[in-house]
Amino acid sequence: MKTLYCKLFKHTFVIKKHVTNAVMEYQCIHCKTYFTTSDKGQIIPLTSKRQEINLALERLHKIRSKKRKLNAINH
Ligand SMILES: [Zn+2]
Repeated sequence: MKTLYCKLFKHTFVIKKHVTNAVMEYQCIHCKTYFTTSDKGQIIPLTSKRQEINLALERLHKIRSKKRKLNAINH
């Protein structure tokens, strides 16, 4: 639900969660709506489908960064 403030001005985002380096989840401090980064780098509303995608991305990202750390130790 958009507040009057968001209609007159724009949403004011705060970062709620780092999913990957490129994808984040935001919340508008005025209307409390959640948003996320799309594949094209745009800010779009966070749907339950998107939330699932982000969870999968986050899991992949964690595995990858763990592997990167192991590689750094081995080399
Ligand atoms: Zn808003």
